[in-house]
Amino acid sequence: MTRIFNDPADFAEEALAGFCDLHSDLVRQVPGGAVRRRRSASPKVAVLAGGGSGHYPAFAGLIGAGLADGAVVGNIFTSPSAQQAYSVAKAAENGAGVVFAYGNYAGDVMNFGMAGERLAAEGIAVENVLVTDDIASAPPSEAGKRRGIAGDFTVFKIMGAAAEAGANLADVVRLGRKANQLTRSIGSAFHGCTFPGAAAPLFTLKDGEMGLGLGIHGEPGLFDTELPSATELGRELVSRGLAETPQGAGRRIAVILNGLGSTKHEELFVLWLTVAPLLRAAGYTLVMPEVGELVTSLDMAGVSLTVTWLDEELESLWTAPAETPAYRRGAAALLPGSADTEEAPDCAGAADVFGAGEGSRAYADKCIAALGAAREALHEAEQRLGDLDAVAGDGDHGRGMVRGIDAATAAAAGAFAQGAGAGDVLAAAGDAWADKAGGTSGVLWGAGLRAFGESLGDGQAPGVDELAAAVQSFASRIVELGHAEVGDKTMVDALVPFTDTLRRLAHGGGAPGLIWAEAAGAATAAAEATAALRPRRGRARPLAEKSVGTPDPGATSLAMIFSVMGPHLTAVRQPAGASS
Ligand code: ADP
Ligand code: MG
Repeated sequence: MTRIFNDPADFAEEALAGFCDLHSDLVRQVPGGAVRRRRSASPKVAVLAGGGSGHYPAFAGLIGAGLADGAVVGNIFTSPSAQQAYSVAKAAENGAGVVFAYGNYAGDVMNFGMAGERLAAEGIAVENVLVTDDIASAPPSEAGKRRGIAGDFTVFKIMGAAAEAGANLADVVRLGRKANQLTRSIGSAFHGCTFPGAAAPLFTLKDGEMGLGLGIHGEPGLFDTELPSATELGRELVSRGLAETPQGAGRRIAVILNGLGSTKHEELFVLWLTVAPLLRAAGYTLVMPEVGELVTSLDMAGVSLTVTWLDEELESLWTAPAETPAYRRGAAALLPGSADTEEAPDCAGAADVFGAGEGSRAYADKCIAALGAAREALHEAEQRLGDLDAVAGDGDHGRGMVRGIDAATAAAAGAFAQGAGAGDVLAAAGDAWADKAGGTSGVLWGAGLRAFGESLGDGQAPGVDELAAAVQSFASRIVELGHAEVGDKTMVDALVPFTDTLRRLAHGGGAPGLIWAEAAGAATAAAEATAALRPRRGRARPLAEKSVGTPDPGATSLAMIFSVMGPHLTAVRQPAGASS
């Protein structure tokens, strides 16, 4: 239970600001996250860690010499936006390229990927290293789909040390990927974590039970079992961790016994008393093991065991000194010290200048009303959407959609006041949505709305065919970014029947309002029908079985939004000669 907060929606931002004030000797807050206060005077690869908030000391606590150059800080359990990643990268970039390092979650992959495209277009060399250490989240045959948990720390540490030692971008990436391939984690939870201001934990376990295979976003364990003794728990974690020993691995390992947020250090020490002897008995030398909190999950009670099989080059990087707010190892004298940081480059773009036709201005007003209707519906449904997402995902869908639509409506109104037409109004709404909502759905909705706006343009009001084409652009962009197909149990399951119905009926003529309502009905039915499916994409995939019986949250919200937007968006230009 989090007890100290103001407006829960501001919790992550306020926590970051407080952290940056406290550690102002080491870090500096920039738009989207934080970077090192001081950086080397000569070119150096910038290692940027990232992800949602709620995992302290990951990720901002790990900024400093020998570790990260900066952290991109999203909202709680929510991927940062592409804009955030871009702006932190611009502030941290130091002449030798940028590498984003993060756990393998769809929202993060898309947002860091889009930021990377933008940086590359500006001539900055950029790479991504994904962490996939959680053996419970997918079988070995699908190791690339696994999510990142406490192994984030090992991979970041090794990459940070390599960059500090002067390795070039390709080498830092190679070492990060090698460390990831040699890292395995397995965790268990005893009690769920609770969002600031939420009335109940994201998930619960029966008293005296433990969930094995938890994720760091409160994803429940893969199965629940009676709470074992410390010795039994230690045996379980070690045997599962070692069961996936990489082929040809050496006998020296880095080990992390990680507390998830509200597990006492003393409890971890008791557990260590089983874990360490078992690992040694298996023939391993433990190299600088860590016992403590390195990657947490708000106030979750639980623990994870991470093992990284070291070779010579990985060991020297794992044991290299580091000095960050949350983590110190070895001599601190390695701080570059020779140069102060420069001020972060100003990433804010110049003010937009809009030129729009009269028809498009009038239709922009309808678009704003449509967004307003969506806003009302999403506020009303916030809790329900969060509950749907908590069944097999991370429970943030309601909150993310509300943050997104709030930002979108504000940005749309701002652009309209400056003279924007329908296209620019929706593009501004999309950009703001992507920036503020975070999460997979936030990226997709943001990019989709921008594509919708670009398709409409700013000339005249659309006719029904142009409206159908704009909806098709929205859908295409979402499929292009998310790669989901019908049946994967995502928003695409509601989107495709919507666009198909709309296109079919638009060709046949008929009143736009009725056509849209029929398409929205098809989307709603399809969203409900996703209850029977098992998710094949997104955060819910590892818990596919638990999701059966519950409709997909993203499909549900999409159907809802399109339903309430209809009466406004269908106020389209009538063909010449039409009577209504
Ligand atoms: P996150 O999954 O990052 O926490 P949200 O909870 O806001 O983001 O959104 C979850 C929804 O996103 C899912 O219910 C699903 O409809 C949608 N989604 C997830 N992955 C994809 C994808 N690859 N393509 C399309 N939609 C997706
Ligand atoms: Mg979610």
